[in-house]
Amino acid sequence: MSGHPPIRTGVPAYDAVYRHIRDLGDHMPPDTVHRNAMIWRGVQAAVEAMQATYTPPPPGSDRDALPEHLRGLIWPHMRPYLSTACETADACRLAAAEYPEYADELRAWETREHAACRVTRKQDMASCDCRCHTTPKETP
Ligand SMILES: [Zn+2]
Ligand SMILES: [Zn+2]
Repeated sequence: MSGHPPIRTGVPAYDAVYRHIRDLGDHMPPDTVHRNAMIWRGVQAAVEAMQATYTPPPPGSDRDALPEHLRGLIWPHMRPYLSTACETADACRLAAAEYPEYADELRAWETREHAACRVTRKQDMASCDCRCHTTPKETP
């Protein structure tokens, strides 16, 4: 065998796999089934480490936003913001009119998607243009 890949520490998924490898010590799997189980446990450890470390920014957070002085520069080149959730909601509304047999389900998803909108585009903090954010929810 030639060289090993460079060991990267401080990356949670790598660290989790190395911990798994270290825990195995000198243990040799007796057969393919046991070897595969050992590998999958390493993969599982990596996946769990990733899930534990990635937290999406809360709505309205500017964690992923460009610095304010750059936002002003890119602004003319950005499309108006309609969030994926609100765009999907609108597609559900249109499809509900086309497919009456799915209309109830599609309208439920429409409501759910509007409610799931993050309202603010995380890169430039632009506000979602969807009318669901301006139309009062309760109409007499
Ligand atoms: Zn909306
Ligand atoms: Zn929206």
